Amino acid sequence: MTAVPVPDRAVDAFVEALGRDAVLVAEDELREFRDPYTFSGWDEHAASAVVLPSSVEEVQAVVRIANDFGVPLWTFSRGRNYGYGGASPRLSGSVLVGLLRMNRVLEVNEELAYALVEPGVSFFDLCEAVRAGGHKLLVSVPVLGWGSVVGNTLEHGWGYTPTGDHASSQCGLEVVLGNGDVVRTGMGAMAASRTWQTYRRSFGPSADGLFMQSNLGIVTKMGVWLTPEPECYLPCRVTVPGDDLAPLVDALRPLLLERTVQNVPLVMQDPASGRWGARFALYGHERVVDAQLAIVERAFSGLVGAEVVARKLPGGGVAEADGLDPLEQVMGGVPGLAALEVVKLLGGEHGGQLDFSPVTPLTGRDAVAMCDLLRPFYEQAGFLFGPGIIVTPRSLVFTSHITFDTQDEERARAAFDLYAQLADATGRAGYGLYRTHLGFMDLVAEQYGWGDGALRRFNEAVKDALDPNGVLSPGKQGIWPRSMRGAR
Ligand code: ADP
Repeated sequence: MTAVPVPDRAVDAFVEALGRDAVLVAEDELREFRDPYTFSGWDEHAASAVVLPSSVEEVQAVVRIANDFGVPLWTFSRGRNYGYGGASPRLSGSVLVGLLRMNRVLEVNEELAYALVEPGVSFFDLCEAVRAGGHKLLVSVPVLGWGSVVGNTLEHGWGYTPTGDHASSQCGLEVVLGNGDVVRTGMGAMAASRTWQTYRRSFGPSADGLFMQSNLGIVTKMGVWLTPEPECYLPCRVTVPGDDLAPLVDALRPLLLERTVQNVPLVMQDPASGRWGARFALYGHERVVDAQLAIVERAFSGLVGAEVVARKLPGGGVAEADGLDPLEQVMGGVPGLAALEVVKLLGGEHGGQLDFSPVTPLTGRDAVAMCDLLRPFYEQAGFLFGPGIIVTPRSLVFTSHITFDTQDEERARAAFDLYAQLADATGRAGYGLYRTHLGFMDLVAEQYGWGDGALRRFNEAVKDALDPNGVLSPGKQGIWPRSMRGAR
C-alpha cells in the first residue's frame, strides 16, 4: 500500500472543527504514536496526523471531513495495543483518531454491577472510579492496566476475573458510523431505555459483534459488566512436572465446564524448573470457596508430583494485601504494569514483542500438539518459547510472545519472519489466530477462507454498505474498502 498524504485543506478543516491543539502534524508529535515494538527504523505503518476529538459530535465532524476529502482514518482509544501494532494504522498515511480525551466514566452501578465508559477510560481509570465511589465491585483487568477498557474489549482481549472474557462482558455500544450517523446497539436503541447496560440483546439482529475487531464504526460509549466484590478471594497455583502439560490441562477442563473455577486461568511453564503451572482463583462466600477448593484439590490429587498452593484473602482487601505477585493482584482486579518488566528482562531496555495467538480446543492433546508445533520454529530462529496459555471453558488461547531488541534490525526481522512461519504452520493445522499484528492482517484473513472466501465477501459487502468511501480503518482485519481492493 502506498501512503496517502493528507491534503492541507483537510488539516485546516480538522483544526476548524476540533481546535488547533487537537490536531497534531509535527513529526516529533507523531513519533509518540508509533508502534514501539517494531525496529525503530521501520515506518511501514506511519500516521500522517493525529486528531483528538473530545465529544461524539467532534468524532462525527472528523468522519464527515474524512468523507469530504477522502482521508483514511484509524481509530484507537489509548493506543496501548502493544504486541499488535500500538496506535499505528494498518494503512500508512492514515489520520489517527485518538480518543484519549473522551475519558469519562459515565456511570458505575453497584446494584446491577456494571459501568458505562467512554473509549479513553483505561483500566486504571475505571478501577479508580470504582474505588473513589466506594463501590463494592471488581473490575476485570488484563495484565497491563494502562490500555482502554473499550479497545481491549473490541479486540476480544482477556482479563482474569469471572468477567475476564471481555467481549462477552460488554453490554451496549454507541457507535459513529462511516456516514456520520450515531447508533446505539442492544436496548440502547430505545429512546428512553432502562436496560441498555443490563440486557445484551434487543429486537432484531445483534449488531455489537459487527463493531469488534472491525472497521465499521468508531465506538464512543460502551457498557461493561463487573463482578460484585466477593466475601473471599482465593488465588491458587497448581504446578506439575515438566512432562505433564496434558494431564494438567485435562484436569482443568471439568473445573471450568462445571464452573467450579469461574475466572480465566493462565497456564505457563516455569523456565527455571521446567514445571508447568496453572494460575486461577476462586471468588465468593467463604463456605462456598472452601468447598470449591476441596474439589480443586481432589481434581489434581491424581496427578503425580502435583502441588496446589492457595491463599485465602478478604475480597475487598486485594489492593492492600502483602506478598501478592502481579498475577494474583490482576486476578483480584488490581491493575498493574509488571508485564512490561518481563519484556525488558527478555528483550533488553528497548525490548519489544509480537504476540502470536492461536486458539486450540481445551484438551491436553491439543495443548501438547500446539507446543510441539511451535517450539521447533522458535528454536530454529533462536527465540525463547514460553507461551501464556489463557484457559476458557472450551478453548485454549496460546499467547505466545516473540521477544526481541527493537534496536537490532536483524532480530526484529527474524521475529517478524518467525511470526509468518508460525501463522502458516498453525493455519495449515486448522488452528486460527484470535487477533493479529497489523503486519499480518491480510495473511490471517486469508486463512479464514472457507466457502471460497465467503466470510471475506460478507465483510466486504457490509463494509461497502456502511462506509462507502472507505474512510474507517482501511485494511483492518484484512478488510479493505472497494477502492483499495486492487492492491490486496
Ligand atoms: P488499548 O485499549 O490497549 O489502548 P488501542 O486503543 O490501541 O488499545 O485499541 C486497539 C485496537 O482496537 C485499535 O487498533 C482499533 O482497531 C480498535 N479500537 C480501539 N478503540 C476503538 C474505538 N473506540 N472504536 C473502534 N475501534 C477501536
